[in-house]
Formats: sequence, C-alpha cells, structure tokens
Amino acid sequence: MASGGIEPRKLSVFGSTGSIGKNTLDVIEQVGGREFFEVLALTGNSNTELLAEQAKASGAKLAVTADADRYQSLKDALSGSGIAVAAGESGLMEAADLDAEWVMAGIVGTAGLAPTLAAARKGADIALANKECLVSAGEIFVQAVHAGGGRLIPVDSEHSAIFQALEEDQRHALERIILTASGGPFRTWTREEMAGVTVEVARAHPNWSMGLKISIGSASMFNKALEMIEAKHLFDVEPDQIEVIVHPQSIIHSMVGYRDGSVLAQLGAPDMRTAIGYALTYPLRPNLTVERLDFAKLARLDFEAPDTERFPALRLARTALERGGLQGAVMNAAEETAFSAFVEERITFLQMADIVEAVMEKMTGHSPATNIEEVFAADAEARRKAGEQISKVSART
Ligand code: NDP
Ligand code: MG
Repeated sequence: MASGGIEPRKLSVFGSTGSIGKNTLDVIEQVGGREFFEVLALTGNSNTELLAEQAKASGAKLAVTADADRYQSLKDALSGSGIAVAAGESGLMEAADLDAEWVMAGIVGTAGLAPTLAAARKGADIALANKECLVSAGEIFVQAVHAGGGRLIPVDSEHSAIFQALEEDQRHALERIILTASGGPFRTWTREEMAGVTVEVARAHPNWSMGLKISIGSASMFNKALEMIEAKHLFDVEPDQIEVIVHPQSIIHSMVGYRDGSVLAQLGAPDMRTAIGYALTYPLRPNLTVERLDFAKLARLDFEAPDTERFPALRLARTALERGGLQGAVMNAAEETAFSAFVEERITFLQMADIVEAVMEKMTGHSPATNIEEVFAADAEARRKAGEQISKVSART
C-alpha cells in the first residue's frame, strides 16, 4: 500500500519547471513516485533543459514547451527517450487533452487559463495553484470543473488552509473567511521608501521561496488582492465575508470564522509541499518530510490590520469584488501587464497600482461573462489599455 493509502493515478503537471511544478514533482516522489503515479504530461516554457530532465526522471509520456521556438531544443534534449514532444498553445492543449485524473495547474498567469479549463472540462481533478484562472474566469471556470465532473482543490496555501478548515456540512454556519498575508518585504516601509525599489529588492520574500510574479505580487500585495477574488469563487462567499489580516510569520495559513464565534485555522511551516500534498492525496493526508512546527521556538504569532493606503491593491480588490462581472479579468490582465513593465524597468513599483486602477476605471461597464471568449476579450482590452497607460507614464519619467 502506498504511503497514506494512495491509489495509482494518471496525472499531469502544467508548469512543471516552475516553483510549484518542482515542488509538485518532489511531492509525487515522496508519496510513491512511479509505483503509484503515471505521469502523462509535463509542461514548461523557457527552461527546456530542466523540462527534458524532469520528463525522463518521471517517465512522462509527453513534454510540452509553451514557447513554439523552443520545440527543436526540447526535441533534441529528448531524442531517443521515446517521450513525445509538443510546443506552443496547441502543444499545451494536447497536454490538456490526455486522460489525466489529476492536473496540477502550476503555470503562471493567464497563459494557464486555456489548458487548465480544457483539462477541467475533460473531468480531471484540478489542483489549482494558477489562481489567475479563477480571478479572470471565475464562475465559468468553476462551472467547467463541475461540468467535467472533477474536483477543484486549492493549492494556494491560504485557500488550502480554508479548504481544510471548512467542513462541508458546516457551510451553513460559515460567517467569514480570514486570509492571512505576510505583508511581504515592505510590510513596515513607507510609500516614499517603496517608491524607488528595484525588482531584486521587491522579489526577496521574507518567508516563502516562489516564482518572480508572485514574489513581486507579495511585495505589492497584489497577490493578496488576487487571492481575495480567488476566495470568492472557490468558497462562494460575499465580498464582505472576506477579510485580510497581516500575519508576518506565515504560520497560520488562513482561518474560517463560524457564526458561533469559533475560528478554525490551519497552521504549518511555510512550505508549499504541504498544500500540494493535500491536493494530491485529498481526502487523505500523505507522509511528507516537511519541517514540523516547534511552538516553543516560535514563541509568538503576530497580527496587524492591513494598510490599504500603502497597499492600494487591497482596495482595488474590494472594488473588483463589489463590481463583479469582468472586473477580476480586467484587474488581473492590467496587473500582469503592469508587473511586466515594472520588471522591464519601464515603470516604478508604486506605478503598478496606478496603472491597474486607471484601467479598472476605464472598464467598469461589463456585465458578467457568459462564455470564455468574453473573458479573453476583456483580458485583451485591459492589456491594451494598460499598455497605453504605461506608455504615458514612462514617457513622463
Ligand atoms: P514560476 O514562475 O516559478 O513558474 C511558472 C511556470 O509556468 C514555469 O513552469 C514556466 O515555465 C511556466 N510558464 C511561464 N510562462 C508561461 C507561458 N506563457 N505559457 C505556459 N507556461 C508558462 O511560478 P510559480 O510556480 O511561483 O507560480 C505558478 C502559479 O502558482 C502562479 O499562478 C502563482 O500565483 C501560483 N502560486 C505559487 C506559489 C509558490 O509558492 N510559488 C504559491 C501559491 C500560488 P519556464 O520556467 O520553463 O519558463
Ligand atoms: Mg497564497
């Protein structure tokens, strides 16, 4: 019997070369590897060397690079291995079309939406790290999972915590969801101090080791903003039931408050493998070698109210939640565009929120999307408008 009683399962890892993807492959090994899991597809983008190594080590059937220009280098790296190779958007859809029972959605950004949606429609259980799927496509994404017949299991540590603390038969008694936020590297900084920060400074997260996009998002608190919208769709709660509390140690991963005043929390070391393992083996719990909490050493856990003046992303998320419709897609696309401009040093750290707010104000008039094409259209329009704003701002500086 496998560790924790796991049955053999066919699975795919989208974004296997990233931070979530590497942790997922590590968890798969820890939980039993090839003996218990058959890896169908692995996908990456720029890092074809690592993708080829992972595909060989895991015995994957198909390796896909999202970058069509890297097809040949991946093909060369896997020649003679018997592993099929594909590339570009059609390659990602090929990966999504395999009969996986479980898919880790670990691609960063809206690039993950189409393949994850396709895998959901095919009925795979979706382990969702790629929060952008829910922020942009919300109800449509949730409906696709339901229609496919698979389960949607959150991997984001906060949402995994809530998922673990929220018992289905107690849903009627749920009062509020309390998302914890580390506060990131600029938790105690003034706006003046944040004004000139570089990408290298902003990406240095105090507790978690993660990909670039989410690390910058933690510094600006746009990551928490996306997570507020993610929580709405995952747990079907009203905007005023979603609270954020800054908890610098990142030990309490989030909490659920019930109508009798009880609060249930999930705690653990800041290590994504716990949430990934839970999503992989749900409803069982796997044996994992992650660090155990030593409460005597921890000694204390701190909390602070979030500051929406210094971190306007949190205010923008509230606005998006209240407006509903396509505002999540608009906010997400504008933020991705502003993030890229910051990384390319075209705008400053604080200008990211200005750009997102300007685009949201220009695109308030959307009713809820009825199909995914409307989501992609709003996404494209928000990117275009964000691009215009960025050009204006960078022309001034
Ligand atoms: P990384 O940047 O580390 O990895 C992203 C993955 O997506 C890589 O495999 C990358 O390939 C691939 N990728 C990049 N661009 C594209 C594209 N255009 N098309 C297809 N694939 C692409 O990100 P993370 O692992 O940190 O984050 C992944 C997702 O998980 C994000 O949505 C993030 O918000 C979420 N998440 C991450 C956490 C973490 O601890 N890292 C925690 C909670 C949520 P390559 O590297 O080969 O270029
Ligand atoms: Mg998170």
